[in-house]
Amino acid sequence: MHEFNKDVEDLAHEILDYSLDRLKLNPPLDGPSTPEELFHQVGNTITPQGLGGHETLEIFKNVLAPACISTDHPRYLAFIPSAPSEYANLFDLVVGSTALYGGSWLEGSGAVFAENQALRWIADLAGLPASAGGVFVQGGTNGNLSALVAARVHAREQFPEVTRWVVACSQEAHSSIQSAADIMDVLVLEVPADDGGVLRGDAVGSAIDSYHEANPTHRVFAVVATAGTTNLGIIDDLTTVGAAAKSRDIWFHVDGAYGLAALCAPSVRSKFNGVELADSLIVDPHKWLFAPFDACALIYRNPAIAKKAHTQHASYLDTLENPNEWNPSDYAIHLTRRARGLPFWFSLAANGTDEYARSMEQTLTIAQHAATLIKAHPQLKLLMEPDLSVVAFTRNGWTLPEYEAWSDKLLEDQIGFVVPSSHKGKPILRFAIVNPWTTEADIEAILETLN
Ligand SMILES: *Cc1c(COP(=O)(O)O)cnc(C)c1O
Repeated sequence: MHEFNKDVEDLAHEILDYSLDRLKLNPPLDGPSTPEELFHQVGNTITPQGLGGHETLEIFKNVLAPACISTDHPRYLAFIPSAPSEYANLFDLVVGSTALYGGSWLEGSGAVFAENQALRWIADLAGLPASAGGVFVQGGTNGNLSALVAARVHAREQFPEVTRWVVACSQEAHSSIQSAADIMDVLVLEVPADDGGVLRGDAVGSAIDSYHEANPTHRVFAVVATAGTTNLGIIDDLTTVGAAAKSRDIWFHVDGAYGLAALCAPSVRSKFNGVELADSLIVDPHKWLFAPFDACALIYRNPAIAKKAHTQHASYLDTLENPNEWNPSDYAIHLTRRARGLPFWFSLAANGTDEYARSMEQTLTIAQHAATLIKAHPQLKLLMEPDLSVVAFTRNGWTLPEYEAWSDKLLEDQIGFVVPSSHKGKPILRFAIVNPWTTEADIEAILETLN
């Protein structure tokens, strides 16, 4: 063991104290600054001599950190917030300080073993077979892209004569599907959802059949269903969409970046029926499974296909190619990787899965409570009964500028962070509730400002 020198020793305590204080604090919401304001306060921090650890930490604590919104604040309800458990956050300190390598079994077998048990829990909840497996990637965007690349490699082998590849999804699908299609240079076949925004198998089937008829050298290689849309929390009809894909020999991918977390909540589990048909699925523990950024669980029914698609071959990597060893690098678009599933694994192992179910049910209960309050509010209109924990609504008589002004003031007053979104071309407000520490009183405090 080597000793820290005095500066490092002091800094170690300062950093640990700061981290623990931040974890115990009810964090302030904070908010953005302009580059000019920040420069005015800190100047150029990159200097030939260095500022020293203490001074650099002071800059972070006093200027930079307060210019970052606390995404784990219980009244941060915009986008999809983050709500890491205490255990997950604490263990992230360990992951960050131990030079764990999560790319190969050879280098990180213990970490990979633990990550794989966490993935197994999700695969079991989804009803995937014992052969299923995958990897934690940086986020849902990478997860969706990696899954679709695997799907296309598979389709190319089955249908070598095809000239143009197409991915089918609903217009409610997440923007990352279009982004993946652009990167892959494939087309997107938008299938209309029903009036409730739900993608259904009959619509998928007939859209694909007429597309194939009109474009005989093109082929749909993947159908993407969303299990909990980001904007409204709508769950596609996974049973019929999965069947429509399967009966046409097409890969079925379920994007559950936000929503599939609720697989562990008994009260809503049946809404995900059909997910067991998935050839691949994703869920982001950094969204609604109480893990810190950044972690997306990507799971394949048949990981061998993904391995064929994603393994990188190079002379210096050949030694890693052992068929009996699980190399996480082989299952997505990445090589070097942090063992980013470990904070999630630690929290799951330490808290137990029952606690996960309880915390999930708590967020669902608060979402129902929010919907009830909105329905009773004289100025507000609930857009639809929440399927999961996104609650969308409108304010009577408001147009976008009023929503924006309200949102800005809510943050300025440090009451909450809620931003306008839109639905069918009209502005709406939405609460995304993923934090078990968000209380009824938190919701009431925000709704009061809409009187
Ligand atoms: C958030 C989200 C994504 C993208 O995930 P990132 O982790 O932000 O890359 C994809 N699909 C859905 C449904 C999402 O909610």
